[in-house]
Amino acid sequence: MDKKSKAVLIADTLDAHYPPEIQFLHFKNSFELLIAVILSAQTTDEQVMRVVPALFDKFPTPEKMAKADIPVLEKLIHATGFFHAKAKNIKATSQKLLELYGGVVPSTIEELIKLPGVGRKTANVVVGTLFDKPAVIVDTHFKRVTYRLGLTKNTEPDKVEADIRKLLPPEKQYRFSMTANLHGRECCHARKPECDICILKDLCSYGRTSRI
Ligand code: SF4
Repeated sequence: MDKKSKAVLIADTLDAHYPPEIQFLHFKNSFELLIAVILSAQTTDEQVMRVVPALFDKFPTPEKMAKADIPVLEKLIHATGFFHAKAKNIKATSQKLLELYGGVVPSTIEELIKLPGVGRKTANVVVGTLFDKPAVIVDTHFKRVTYRLGLTKNTEPDKVEADIRKLLPPEKQYRFSMTANLHGRECCHARKPECDICILKDLCSYGRTSRI
C-alpha cells in the first residue's frame, strides 16, 4: 500500500472509531478560542479550562483585554505556566487584533500568525475549528502518533504539518488532527502505548522505526 492510501485508511479508521464531535477546549466565541489556544502552550487543555472562566469574566473582549494590567493577567493565568510571556502575548494579541482586524479574529493562517504568541499550531486550531478550513494541528500527541504510524519522519512541527498536508486530502485534515490527537491521549500514550488493543496496530510502524 502506498503512503497516501495508508494515511487515508488510518484517518478513516480513526474517524469511524471516535465520536463525531471532538473538542478539547470549550469557548463561547472566536476571541475566547484564540486566547485559550495561546494559553495552552506547554500545559494541558484541562489546566487552561480551569483558568479561563475568571479570565473572561474580567476581560471578555479584545477591547478590555488590550487595556488589562499585566500583573492582573499574570495572576489570573498563573497556573498555565510561562505566565509572564503568556500575559504579554494575550494583551498584545488583543491590541493587534483591534489594530489590524478591527477586533475580529481573522480566518487565514497568514493573518493569524501576525498576532503575538500565535504560531502555526494555534492558527491551525482557529481556522479548522471556527472556519471549517483544512487544518493540520501539530501538538505533542499528534506528533507522536503520526511519527509512530510512519506518516512522517520529522519531529519539527512545521515539517510534520507539511508531511501530513501532502498525504491527506484537505477535507480530512482537520478531523484527522482531532482523532489522531485523541488517539494519542487515549491509547498511544507517550510512555506505554497500548499497541495490543490499538485499532491501528496492523497499520502501524512502531517498533520498525526509531522510537519517540
Ligand atoms: S499500534 Fe501502538 S504505537 Fe501504533 S498507533 Fe497504536 S498504540 Fe500507537
